[in-house]
Amino acid sequence: MSKAFVIAVIDLIAAVCFILALRGLSGPKTARLGNQIGAGGMVVAVLAAFFVSGATNFPLMIGSIAVGTVLGVPAARRVPMTAMPQMVALFNGVGGGAAALVSIEEFRSRAAVDSLTFGVTLAVLLSAIIGCVSFAGSGITFAKLQELMSGRPFAPPWLRYVFGGLVAVLLVLVVVILATESVAALIVLALLALVFGVLFVLPVGGADVPIVISLLNAFTGLAVAASGAVLSNVLLIVAGTLVGASGTLLTQMMGRAMGRSIPSILFGAFKGSTAGSTEISKDVRPVKSGNAEDIAIMLAYSQKVTIVPGYGLAVAQGQHTVRELADLLASKGVDVSFAIHPVAGRMPGHMNVLLAEANVPYEKLREMDDINPEFPRTDVVLVIGANDVVNPAAKTDPGSPIYGMPILNVDEAKNIIFMKRSMRPGFAGIDNELLYNPKTTMLFGDAKDSLTKLISAVKAA
Ligand code: NDP
Repeated sequence: MSKAFVIAVIDLIAAVCFILALRGLSGPKTARLGNQIGAGGMVVAVLAAFFVSGATNFPLMIGSIAVGTVLGVPAARRVPMTAMPQMVALFNGVGGGAAALVSIEEFRSRAAVDSLTFGVTLAVLLSAIIGCVSFAGSGITFAKLQELMSGRPFAPPWLRYVFGGLVAVLLVLVVVILATESVAALIVLALLALVFGVLFVLPVGGADVPIVISLLNAFTGLAVAASGAVLSNVLLIVAGTLVGASGTLLTQMMGRAMGRSIPSILFGAFKGSTAGSTEISKDVRPVKSGNAEDIAIMLAYSQKVTIVPGYGLAVAQGQHTVRELADLLASKGVDVSFAIHPVAGRMPGHMNVLLAEANVPYEKLREMDDINPEFPRTDVVLVIGANDVVNPAAKTDPGSPIYGMPILNVDEAKNIIFMKRSMRPGFAGIDNELLYNPKTTMLFGDAKDSLTKLISAVKAA
């Protein structure tokens, strides 16, 4: 059996694992298995790099893996689920940077022995530019979400000219590098691509940042695929293309769920239209606030209760308590379901993962389009730590940054209970008229505490 054949078989096994992993990750029931299959495929690919590919610099490879493991494993274990988007940004940026570095080094070593071809140089350029943009852009998205810098869009009028100038210089450098195979020019190009990556993300506002993370994830995939072309490594090409394609689809789906087009997310700030301001509400209108006992009676005597979980439920870590309340109401004959908005929380599928952790049965989770027609027949809607995803401004106020985003029509229910700590707005930073609706009762407090009080009160009702 030739070495090339063994490598081809290993590549095939790893590639099939990656495809099965993506398939598994598309549903909450199979996501864990999908993740494990993907990790298995990665182990196969790494072992192949060690034992089959003819690599010789083992100490460097083992040292790099050790550094990555020591930093990555504890970070991934400790990160709270609400901070997952910035974690993904960080890991993704490192991937893009690595792809760029690998290509630049390959270019340098091939240029030294005069063995560059036009195709390889082109692939190096793609990998270096896209990888550097992804690295620097991901760093800025991390800083924005981690609140190391302002989440507000930064788009002064001069930025578009700097942007245009930078694109022109990058294009000139591409032509120069293709013509001269200059390593110095490639390094300048990589540095300018880093600057481009920063400027690319600065105009994006807080609420849109997770979408840009997904877009940069797709970029990293393309950079890795281009490095695969540079190294003639089939597995890198396959894995990079899979990441590029799935990242692109995820970006489109997230944009659609938020009613925002990708160009408006990236360049909307230049026109003054963007989500993500963080203004604190100055509205002083009175609201109806209730106590757990009154609300418990309302719940216990309802026929149909719908729970709308949001980001605040994840912050409060109230998933087990909400399940307990749902079970208790169900044992009293109440028809209880959970209404899941596609962008509730801070990452795609956030609420599904959160409720799955508390073993809420999948059939109780109802998607937005499925549950929306049922709100007029719903006695009580419990909105727990959610805000933007039920804000009617998305339907009624063309000036609102969330205008056009499909929402859960909880305003059509007979009674609405909002469980949150204050009148502060959600992620989009805008007031929610529903809090002042005559059908609405506020139950102020941390979601988990309020749920615990509701459980005791329902038991006593
Ligand atoms: P929101 O961010 O709109 O609202 C969350 C609410 O939770 C806040 O109003 C806050 O009010 C409350 N809250 C916070 N902590 C607690 C707590 N401990 N107990 C009780 N309440 C709490 O969340 P939604 O889920 O409704 O909407 C998600 C937002 O994130 C949307 O704007 C969406 O576009 C955006 N987004 C989502 C992405 C995704 O993929 N899921 C990606 C990108 C953006 P208070 O401070 O008064 O308690």
